[in-house]
Amino acid sequence: MTRGFTRATVLIAALLLGACASAPPREPKAEWRPSLNHNERSAVMIVVHQTEMESAEAALLTLQTRNSTGRVSAHYLIRDDGGLYQLVAESDRAWHAGASRWGGVTDINSASIGIELDNDGVEPFSDAQITALLKLLDDITGRLDIPRHLVVGHGDIAPTRKQDPSGLFPWKRLADAGYGLWPREPRAEPPAGFDGWAALRLVGYDLRDPAAALRAFHRHYLGTEEEQWLPGDASILFDLQQQLMEMPPPPPPPPPSP
Ligand SMILES: [Zn+2]
Repeated sequence: MTRGFTRATVLIAALLLGACASAPPREPKAEWRPSLNHNERSAVMIVVHQTEMESAEAALLTLQTRNSTGRVSAHYLIRDDGGLYQLVAESDRAWHAGASRWGGVTDINSASIGIELDNDGVEPFSDAQITALLKLLDDITGRLDIPRHLVVGHGDIAPTRKQDPSGLFPWKRLADAGYGLWPREPRAEPPAGFDGWAALRLVGYDLRDPAAALRAFHRHYLGTEEEQWLPGDASILFDLQQQLMEMPPPPPPPPPSP
């Protein structure tokens, strides 16, 4: 009898714990009157990182604990053999972007999916890893309805603090598969009076440190760390600006139900 009671108690306790673990957080002083008229807040962009560590196992440990500056995470980690880990649910806010900005978005952790690539920062990215990344991008952008051109690097959104992924990252290969923003060929010469800084800002770069913004732009589009304007920059930016201006406006929000 005692044993039966103990078993039942343990079972009920386990059920209660399970229920608590999955229940959404609520204000305890409020009476819960649930409404079905809502949806999960979801990401609108994707940020690519490189771990800058020696192994995926070491990166996993850091992304589950902390690095030298504090607690960090990402939604996904892709090994260099293409193996895929998920560490945070897509509906949750992972801590991967830090202080950063892209266009009008300033709280990028709240607005993005973070993908870490196992890479030490100086080695090339493996074909298996990029193939796995492309499959993941296809899956995420389809399910979450994220615009395909809004795939950027950590260095793009935090130009004064971050350099990842390195200039070896194959942005052109991503663009050939339909991800990110990439200049088309052949490129037209920009008109007289074309404002490269305005185009850089329109693409999304934070211009508060202009040299850092140019370095991030060159890393992304040329694979170099140059901080001055280069011949050819204007034609790249003119084409990127044209592509953005040709994009259809985002769909209007769904009409309110009666
Ligand atoms: Zn990063």
